[in-house]
Amino acid sequence: NHEFSNMGRQLAGGSGIEELMEDLGNALAHGGPDICMLGGGQPAHIPEVNAIWRRRMEEILAEPGALEKVVANYDPPRGNPRFIAALANLFRKEFGWPLGPENVAITSGGQTAFFFLFNLLAGEMPDGRRKKILLPLVPEYIGYANQGAGGDLFRAVPPKIEKTGRHEFKYRVDFDALEVTDDIAAICVSRPTNPTGNVLTDEEIARLSDLAKSHGIPLIIDNAYGAPFPNIIFTDAKPVWEEHIILTLSLSKIGLPGTRTGIVVAHPRIAAAMASMSSIIGLANPNIGQAIALPLVESGEILNIANETVKPFYIEKSRQAQDFVAESFGEDFDYYIHRSEGALFLWLWFPGLPITSRELYERLKKRGVLIISGHYFFFGHDDETWRHRHECLRMTFTMDETIVKRGIQIIGEEVRRAHEEA
Ligand code: PLP
Repeated sequence: NHEFSNMGRQLAGGSGIEELMEDLGNALAHGGPDICMLGGGQPAHIPEVNAIWRRRMEEILAEPGALEKVVANYDPPRGNPRFIAALANLFRKEFGWPLGPENVAITSGGQTAFFFLFNLLAGEMPDGRRKKILLPLVPEYIGYANQGAGGDLFRAVPPKIEKTGRHEFKYRVDFDALEVTDDIAAICVSRPTNPTGNVLTDEEIARLSDLAKSHGIPLIIDNAYGAPFPNIIFTDAKPVWEEHIILTLSLSKIGLPGTRTGIVVAHPRIAAAMASMSSIIGLANPNIGQAIALPLVESGEILNIANETVKPFYIEKSRQAQDFVAESFGEDFDYYIHRSEGALFLWLWFPGLPITSRELYERLKKRGVLIISGHYFFFGHDDETWRHRHECLRMTFTMDETIVKRGIQIIGEEVRRAHEEA
């Protein structure tokens, strides 16, 4: 019966992201055929993309000494120098960003990059003040929520809700409500946003960037689904980077989540801090994803994979899921889908839902459908009287068509039942 420290309690005390990853991992490991796993952020297994990973592994195996170099060596803590140089070249060539290898660091997945960034910049400062991360728009990625090693880290601003169609809405940053006080360490957004599939407009990003710059703080843009890879963006959106912007990328959503490869593009001081933290916490990063992707980044093939295969695949999955929703829900109850502009999810809002989204999650789980209750994504904003936070859910549309269709049908049945019982 060991007593846990405050940090131990914070990190080992259970969390939404842990629940989600348990559900996800267990469903993938031993879920029966009847489980509709619409919960996690598991990217699809796209056959053409998996064939490329297989080809790359075969190339590594065929080249004398190559496998041994990958699996029998530690990389430097910042990551494989050749991979880092290739990434810097790609960003310069694609976007004209003025950066070099000193601006790039690899981490063990994007998730780890966020743990490092948040705890580097916010929390208790040397002068005793506590600094926070400002989320200019919630709902925001559940994976950030419990990452503060020294306790709660976030201040969040609810969005403006704009109805954009009979069954469609879009969140907008409420700039009137957004205030950068002197205890704010950084502003952070995911773009495209997990859970909603929102893509903040170029204008919203420009305003946030100016706001951060004028306060001398970083704007963190989580680009896990963004350009140039995996580029799961269905609208026009301009990728941006300047020295006060910290951009994170990942190899996960293009199809390599098991390799745990995150990328941070930032001011050299921040990039160097990532490497320092990697060495203390993990010595080095996993090599294999970098080795698989290296020639694809050097040749630019990774851009073709993203644009010609991955992006069209998810555009179609999103469209199909929206069709299933329209078919299954009909006009029996009120519902809105957040405009699907990117990422792997539909965000559903049921105004006037007579039960909480958490209860809906439980009822759906009993019927073999796993989704994520929306309430988890509103961390950093405590107003429990705001009903909207208990009226939403996130469902992933990456699984096989039959599973997505049946899952959506059962969601419709359970929402209908909740209304009938009320
Ligand atoms: N950021 C966002 C918005 C995500 O959705 C995810 C994964 O779902 C991550 C970061 C972290 O991904 P990874 O650690 O696999 O790179």
